[in-house]
Amino acid sequence: MLLKDKVAFITGSASGIGREIAVVFAREGAKIVIADLNKEAAEATAAEFVKTGAQAIGVTVDVTSEEQVNAGVQKAVNAFGGIDILISNAGIQIVHPIEEFPFADWKKMLAIHLDGAFLTTQACIKHMYASGKGGSIIYMGSVHSKEASKLKSAYVTAKHGLIGLAKVIAKEGAAHNVRANVICPGFVRTPLVDKQIPEQAKTLGITEEQVIKDVMLKETVDGEFTTTDDVAQVALMFASFPSNALTGQSVVVSHGWFMQ
Ligand code: NAD
Repeated sequence: MLLKDKVAFITGSASGIGREIAVVFAREGAKIVIADLNKEAAEATAAEFVKTGAQAIGVTVDVTSEEQVNAGVQKAVNAFGGIDILISNAGIQIVHPIEEFPFADWKKMLAIHLDGAFLTTQACIKHMYASGKGGSIIYMGSVHSKEASKLKSAYVTAKHGLIGLAKVIAKEGAAHNVRANVICPGFVRTPLVDKQIPEQAKTLGITEEQVIKDVMLKETVDGEFTTTDDVAQVALMFASFPSNALTGQSVVVSHGWFMQ
C-alpha cells in the first residue's frame, strides 16, 4: 500500500475526479476526508467508503469560506491526527464571451479555484509543518492551465494561476518536506463536462456529438476522453513520490491534446 495511514484532505470529492482520487487513495491505505459543498453527498460518499472498510469522514466545506475551510481541516485533524496530503480539486465552470462575462461570475470562479486553493493550502500546510513529516499538496489544474479556449476567460485565468501558486509553495514548503504540484487533465466525463456538452451545442449551433468530436476531443491523439482513473493515478504518483525531486511541477494528462 503506497499511502498506508496517510491522511488525505480532498476537496470536491463527493463527485467526479475528486471522488475517484478518494477511491484510489483509500485502496492504497489512506484515511480519506471527503470535503465538499454538498453536505448530503459528502456524508453519503464517506459512508460508502466506511462500508468498504476504509477510514473516511465527510465534512461540509465551501472552499471560498475561510471559516468553513479552517473548521473542516480542524475536524479532519481531530478525527485522524493530522493532514499528509491536500488535493485542492473543487471547481466549477462558467462560460461567457468576455464582453458579456458578469463580474459576479468572474469573481465566483476566481474565488472557488484560487481562494479555495489558497485557503486550503494555508489551513493544511500548518499541520504538515507541525508534524515534521512534510506532505504533498496537489492542485487540480487543467489543460487550461497551459492553453486557452474561447469563452473561458475566468477558468483559464484561474487554472494558470494555480501553477504560480504551486511553484511558490514548492519553494516555501521545501524546508519542511512539503511538495506542491499540479495535475492538468484534458476533458473528463464528469457532471462538470456533461453539463457543458448541450450548452456548447446550443451556443455553437452544432450537435452534441460534434461538440465531443470536433471541439472537446479534436486535438487529442486518439479522440478519447481522459478518465477519472487516469487523473487519480497521476495524483497517486505525486502523493506517494518519496522525495523533493518532484515538486513545483505540472503534468498534463490529456491524450496528447496539449504537449509540452
Ligand atoms: P464535478 O462537478 O464532478 O465535481 C466537483 C465537486 O466540487 C462537486 O462535488 C461539487 O459539489 C464540489 N464543489 C463545487 N463548488 C465547491 C465549493 N465552493 N466548495 C467545495 N466543494 C465544491 O467536477 P469534476 O469534473 O470532477 O472537476 C473537479 C476538478 O477538476 C475541478 O477543479 C475542474 O476544474 C477540474 N478539471 C475537470 C476536467 C473535466 O473535464 N471534468 C478537466 C480538467 C480539470
